[in-house]
Amino acid sequence: MANCFFHGEKEAAARCAVCGRSVCEECVKREGSYTFCSPECREKGAAMLGRSEDVLAEKKKTNSSTLVRKLIYFFVLLAAIAAAYHFYANNKKAVNSKINSSVTSIKKETSKVIKESKKAIPKSSQMKRQKENLVK
Ligand SMILES: [Zn+2]
Ligand SMILES: [Zn+2]
Repeated sequence: MANCFFHGEKEAAARCAVCGRSVCEECVKREGSYTFCSPECREKGAAMLGRSEDVLAEKKKTNSSTLVRKLIYFFVLLAAIAAAYHFYANNKKAVNSKINSSVTSIKKETSKVIKESKKAIPKSSQMKRQKENLVK
């Protein structure tokens, strides 16, 4: 660390928060957790920090409110996912079997329709209608 701005032979203990000068323990002026080189700087710093602390407090407030909003969104999303998962878990068998049976029947009907339409062109319209009914 540099030496004191006012006492060149003394080791600096702190830096002025306003002008950045290094000052020794003897010269340092403290204001809260901040250090200053002179009463003038302390006054300037107090006015400046007072303002910036207000700004910081304001920022913190808005940050925490957005954080709360984010948390609420997160929990709502989580609840929705949990509800969906529970629904799926409770109806897993039903959902799966429904999916499987519909997939199987669609496959069956599709291949049947293809075969039939290849074999007999007049029949295809009828089969098409049957397929449409199945899809519904
Ligand atoms: Zn200063
Ligand atoms: Zn000094």
